[in-house]
Formats: sequence, structure tokens, C-alpha cells
Amino acid sequence: MVSEKMYELGTKKSTIRTIFEFGRKRAAEVGEDQVFDFSLGNPNVPTPDFIREAAVDILQTKAPNEIHGYTVAPGHPQVRAAVAESLNRRFGMDYEGKNVFMTAGAAAAITICFKALCETGDEFIAFAPFFPEYRCFVESVGGKLSVVPARTEDFQIDFAAFERLLTPNTKAVIVNSPNNPSGAVYSEQTIARLAEILRQKEQAYGHPIFIISDEPYREIVFEGYTVPYVPKYYEDTLVCYSYSKSFSLPGERIGYIAVPDSVADFGAVFGAIAGAARVLTHVNAPSLWQYVVARCVDKPSDISKYVENGKLLYDGLIAAGFTCVKPQGAFYLFPKCLEEDDAAFCERAKKYGLLLVPGADFGCPGYFRAAYCIKTETIRRSLPLFKKLAAEYGK
Ligand code: PLP
Repeated sequence: MVSEKMYELGTKKSTIRTIFEFGRKRAAEVGEDQVFDFSLGNPNVPTPDFIREAAVDILQTKAPNEIHGYTVAPGHPQVRAAVAESLNRRFGMDYEGKNVFMTAGAAAAITICFKALCETGDEFIAFAPFFPEYRCFVESVGGKLSVVPARTEDFQIDFAAFERLLTPNTKAVIVNSPNNPSGAVYSEQTIARLAEILRQKEQAYGHPIFIISDEPYREIVFEGYTVPYVPKYYEDTLVCYSYSKSFSLPGERIGYIAVPDSVADFGAVFGAIAGAARVLTHVNAPSLWQYVVARCVDKPSDISKYVENGKLLYDGLIAAGFTCVKPQGAFYLFPKCLEEDDAAFCERAKKYGLLLVPGADFGCPGYFRAAYCIKTETIRRSLPLFKKLAAEYGK
């Protein structure tokens, strides 16, 4: 009677959701202060005042129909121009408004790109550990997702494994740096090597292979690291951006796709993006929030809490005997579990009220994700519990 696949997607809760809901139930039983919920990537830095001020000013000064009406599908022309100019200032690009397609966040941006590119038989490649939604986004458009196993020593790319997965059917690879869940930032060397391999394969296969650069955490990068701007290294790049994390706006659904002139056949790609948005019923990105972000494009993100939390949790876990790649950006740690079975390890952690997400969910079993976009005090109080958990494993 209904699509089995859709029913499954709509009713089978993700592990992250299940853990989060367990945490809410547990908090009601034993008290909020006994639950240490590291499960969700919901930013806890308050949405900046400049966002609220811009929204209020727009609501008070613009005509209501102008604020709340339909916009043209790719977004308000002046908003697209403002985003383009900001990217040009920051990354030395030569975008114009025509290169920017405003979207309802990164999830929409990525799905629109998959839909725009995917033809029968096409394959897409992701690098573990990866944002689990990629799989259902790719499969929803009829594509096949192949996953390159993680290079766990530093969470850069295992290029030998990558080359084995490239085929003449590869349409695009999706990269996410700073990364959810590893917190790693792809180095310039990694991006340059990726570009070199893809250029060779484009030549060999005689068709473009796109990079979809999913970068909602671009601004959340720690001292000593820089996030290479992928289109500077590789022509066939589509950038998917979101203001969900940088401005703590996940509920408002606002982001964009940037398509540089350098992509193979800009007109075809941008046209297919518009067509994909149309059939996915993405009529336009929320109009008010387009105006708001256009006013704030050059404003800084406050990452000081994430820096403090990341350091506190990392140092605490290392002192407790865990091994973990040092956080470079985003707001996640991805340490190694103290037993092989990550689900069993996370289950054991629950005994102490520690809610962690098994790495298998991100295509990287044996690890766990701890989202540290939570109160610093909660992290501080969790550290003795991590110590007790580690002691169970003889640490
Ligand atoms: N990509 C990654 C890597 C994410 O972590 C998330 C959200 O957590 C998204 C995309 C989706 O973000 P948005 O809220 O902009 O749809």
C-alpha cells in the first residue's frame, strides 16, 4: 500500500535519535544532571545577536509581502550577489550571483546536487567516517553509494582504497571537512592529491567526476588548521554550505550551493540543479532567512565554546586512557572504543549515563562519536565517569 522503503526510513529511528530519546527518558527517571548526552550535533552556542537584530530589522522595515512571498527559485538576486561577493573576498573566487543557488540548508543542497547529477547506473563515493544521511540521500535519487574505509590514524583519505573504488560509473565524490564525526580537517595535501587523482580519472573515463564539498562546519576550525577552499584545487566542485552550525540556525533551514564557472558545462549543471530543486519541491529557500544571512555574510562565528569543550574532553579522555585524533574543527570527537564491538561499548557507557554514538553508524566500527556542543560543566562532570568506564577495561 505504501512504499516499503519510505516506510522504513520514516519509522526506523536512527541510532542517534534512539540514543537521544533514551537520554530524555533517563533524565526523567534519574534527573537531568545524571545524563551526559553526547549524541546530537545541535549547536549550543547561542544564535548571535547580529542575526536576531537583522531579522527584527528586516521584519520591521521591509514590506510583509516582500519578506514572506515566494522568491525566484535560486533565491533573491541581491542575496545571491551578497553571498558571491563574500566568497570572493574570503577565497579569492570570481563568483557572481548567478553562481549561487540558495537552499534550505546543507541537507537540501547535497540532495539537490545528487539528484542533479545522477543518471541511471551512477555511483557516488563517500569517505568513512561519514554523515549517515548521505546514504539515503544518494539512494533516494537512484544512485549507488560506495564507501572508502577510514584511514583511522589521522582521518585523512586512504587514497589506495579510494582508487580501487573509482569506476567509469563514478559521477561524484562527497567530502566533508571539517568532518562530522571525526573532527578532522582535510589538509591542503589531501585535497591536492584528491584533485590530481580525479583529474586523471576524468581523462581516463572521458567524463567529469564532481566533488561535492559538504562544508557546514567550515568556520568551526581550530588554531593551526585551515580548511582549503576546494574549488581552488579542483574545477568540477560543487560547494554545499549551511548556516546551521556557523550561526546556530539549524531550525531555520538556510544554506546554498555554489557552482563555479570552472565546472564542466556550467549551464547544464546549474540548470540540472534548478530542475532537481523543482522536482524535490524545494520551491525556494526561506525568504526571511535569505535576507538575514545576506546581511551577515561577513560576520564571524563564535567558536570559543567549541574550542574550550573540545580541549577539555580530548584532554580528559586521553588522561583516562583513550586514544583519539586531536580535534581540528567541527564539534565532535571520534575516539577508539575500548573493545572491538562499538555497540557493546556504547551500551556499557550508558550505565554511567554517558550517551555516545557507535562508529558503525558512520561507516567506521570500533570508534564512537561524542558531540561536545553541550554545556562545558556537563563535560567536566562526565570526565570521572569516562575514567570509571575506562577502568572497567583495565585502563
Ligand atoms: N552535512 C553534515 C556533515 C552534517 O553534519 C549536517 C548536519 O548535522 C548536515 C550536512 C545537514 O546540515 P543542515 O542542517 O544544513 O541540513
